[in-house]
Amino acid sequence: MIDTLGDFLRNNAYKFPNETAYTFEGEHVTFAKYFERGNRLASALWKRGIRRQDRISIFSQNSLEFMEAYAACELAGYVAATVNWRLAAPEIEWILGNSSPRVLVFEAQYAETVDKIRDQLDFVELFLCVGGTTPSWAEDYHAFRDSGDKEGAPTRPQPDEIMHLIYTSGTTGRPKGAMRTHRAEIAVGILMATELGLIVSDRLQLIMPVFHVGARFLQLAVHMRGGSVVLHRSFNPAEVLDAIERERVTMTHMAPTMVQMMLEQPGIETRDLKSLHTICYSAAPMPVPVLKRGLELLGPVFLQLYGMTEGGGTTLHKRQHKLDGTAEDLKRLGSIGQAAPNVDVKIIDEEGNEMPVGQPGEILTRTETHMAGYWNNSAATLSALREGWYYTGDLGYVDEEGFVYLVDRKKDMIVSGGENIYSREVEEALATHSAVSDVAVIGVKDDHWGETVRAITVLRAGKSVSEADLIEHCKTQIASYKKPKSIIFVDELPRLPSGKINKVTLRQMYGATVVKA
Ligand code: ATP
Ligand code: MG
Repeated sequence: MIDTLGDFLRNNAYKFPNETAYTFEGEHVTFAKYFERGNRLASALWKRGIRRQDRISIFSQNSLEFMEAYAACELAGYVAATVNWRLAAPEIEWILGNSSPRVLVFEAQYAETVDKIRDQLDFVELFLCVGGTTPSWAEDYHAFRDSGDKEGAPTRPQPDEIMHLIYTSGTTGRPKGAMRTHRAEIAVGILMATELGLIVSDRLQLIMPVFHVGARFLQLAVHMRGGSVVLHRSFNPAEVLDAIERERVTMTHMAPTMVQMMLEQPGIETRDLKSLHTICYSAAPMPVPVLKRGLELLGPVFLQLYGMTEGGGTTLHKRQHKLDGTAEDLKRLGSIGQAAPNVDVKIIDEEGNEMPVGQPGEILTRTETHMAGYWNNSAATLSALREGWYYTGDLGYVDEEGFVYLVDRKKDMIVSGGENIYSREVEEALATHSAVSDVAVIGVKDDHWGETVRAITVLRAGKSVSEADLIEHCKTQIASYKKPKSIIFVDELPRLPSGKINKVTLRQMYGATVVKA
């Protein structure tokens, strides 16, 4: 029976030995080779006394070595703990302190950061440096890996052991480590392979960081079918288009802001992107004008995914794949789709009552792909997982056919004069103005109203609009009480690596003193 990710890797090496598992910076790695490298690393770690459920932290941009470290954990039952390389040294120290790994695999470019916090990492016994010059306190990753046996470590994981300690984006506070078991990861992979209709000839372009869940579950899904992954170190819109043409990529996955940057690339109309059958987007709301432009340029290839780290990043809901621009489709452009076959969804109010069609409340999901809980944080686990339901912290409503529409994050909702105002609705209204390129809406503490609405806006190059005119424009789109009271124009919005706007930072920067529970 295939009930651990290690079994699945072994099986792939047997079924598709010479097929390409990864293409990365000109190198093609077959499933057999990938299996062997994972085994060697697992064995080398075993020989150093690393045992099942010990944490291995990976501090790296997307790379083959990153995926090999995942493979070693899949095969030998170590726990792969992720680190967001964009975080500052104290935040990284916090995450490492939280997961307390025995091994830290890091890229040479982060050696200085690691060195700075090394005194606080006394739980790390082995530092493995990938590429560049290996510092005296670390070992060379490749030499270490190659010292392991091809046959791997003399152990195998149990299906309900933790495979992955994957940290949430930290949009609403400190990132939380979601514990994901082999069983849950396999369930996600199979669900997504089926839902996306993946086949052996699929080539998935992975640009999103693999330390986040979105990239990880798509990698699992395509590999479950024997398809291959075209891995990118990080996002560069021109390189994305080059790789789609060169590698005949069939599926890609981006945050909406990346889709927008790709669509704005000069000469995109002349590119040969016909191999693409699906562009998945997720993690943050997609502005409808961007989606419409994409549909015009590339046809009905867009697929919205909705999910979260705690759910394995799965499409807890799947929207129609082939949008052809009919009125019905356009109505559904904003929906995050219907529940996938093995996912139960309900929408509740503060008292736990189920909401009728069209009425917003918190989205709850129940599925075997959920996390086992948060690492070292039982209070957060108890509040997020209750009686089999996961409380997403997202607000949404359903229509008559079970299509779910997100309205906001619970923590982003603004209460002004007793009225609930969804920041996302105001953002969408502002985004319909032709001068607006990017926008975020936050609540500002107000003695009279409780909170008032403030928009932080980026204008398109060469375009201008006054604060008063933009507020007036909003009134043509949404009820007057929801319009922003103030608008601040900026050059850029702070974003997380997943493409989400960092509203915690925005609130700190732009005077929103409201502290959300
Ligand atoms: P944290 O939990 O640490 O505050 P986070 O919730 O952003 O951070 P993730 O697990 O990476 O961490 O993201 C999941 C969240 O992303 C969802 O709860 C939802 O708010 C948002 N999201 C996911 N998919 C979509 C989508 N298609 N459209 C809009 N928002 C989305
Ligand atoms: Mg979250």
